[in-house]
Amino acid sequence: IVQWTPFFQTYKKQRYPWVQLAGHQGNFKAGPEQGTVLKKLCPKEEDCFRVLMKDVLRPYVPQYKGQVTSEDGECKYIYLQLQDLLSDFNQPCVMDCKVGVRTYLEEELSKAKEKPKLRKDMYEKMIQIDPDAPSEEEHKAKGVTKPRYMVWRETISSTATLGFRIEGIKKSDGTSTKDFKTTKSRQQIKQAFREFVNGFQHAMPRYIHRLQAIRATLECSDFFQTHEVIGSSLLFVHDHYHASVWLIDFAKTVGLPENQKIDHRSTWTVGNHEDGYLIGINNLIDIFTELDAE
Ligand code: ATP
Ligand code: MG
Ligand code: MG
Repeated sequence: IVQWTPFFQTYKKQRYPWVQLAGHQGNFKAGPEQGTVLKKLCPKEEDCFRVLMKDVLRPYVPQYKGQVTSEDGECKYIYLQLQDLLSDFNQPCVMDCKVGVRTYLEEELSKAKEKPKLRKDMYEKMIQIDPDAPSEEEHKAKGVTKPRYMVWRETISSTATLGFRIEGIKKSDGTSTKDFKTTKSRQQIKQAFREFVNGFQHAMPRYIHRLQAIRATLECSDFFQTHEVIGSSLLFVHDHYHASVWLIDFAKTVGLPENQKIDHRSTWTVGNHEDGYLIGINNLIDIFTELDAE
């Protein structure tokens, strides 16, 4: 259990501990304007936000308010000023689900394939989680290649099978955990969701409704049609009054190569750029709907 407050945020004269469920400490800080946060600049992500501000998806992403330069000691950093999605909530419960059937880019995989050395460190990590995962040959060599490791790693969570995985959850009792690396089965996911919304029954139908609206909007979004969406998350936030979901984190979302079309639901094979984004959305809607009927 991690209790991690990167900084305190102020909104409408209220001071509250900000919640960060993924990413490096130091990537975020309070924004200069009320109700905003700063995220360290990644030029690719900024490109996405610029396009998103003119896309039908705009209501479902944090508002992008431009660059801000900020000094941290000696160094100057450029940040993106984003709407703080937590600012309208009172002691919010927060969940980050990373969407898609893989979390690396095609180019990262092909780069890893260039000089595939046998990696002992990756072999060790592999057997720590599943001693049966390496092949006979890999056991003999006590090593696996990086591309092999990358593909395998997506199968230890629900990423490869359900098209999303839980990255982190902060519950109403104040505890938060990022311990979901091997949360894989539908049953395990359901239990985590159950605990997340426990005591907030109003949240479930709102999440379902919002996810359905997101799915419908994705289907007609130019941005979605032209991008491979990798490593992006859905951020679920609720308190006793409200519940909503947004798309966040576009640092690994890239424009598709020209003449390449994807439908975000077909099986990924190396090189076809499919991300499985809609597989994840559909499974999330199904699972929340099943839980709401319990
Ligand atoms: P990683 O790539 O490891 O996922 P990152 O540095 O790209 O991390 P994000 O995923 O964008 O960062 O955000 C990390 C966390 O910060 C999220 O899980 C969420 O808890 C919080 N967060 C990000 N953006 C916002 C926002 N606009 N409003 C509120 N919370 C946010
Ligand atoms: Mg993220
Ligand atoms: Mg990221």
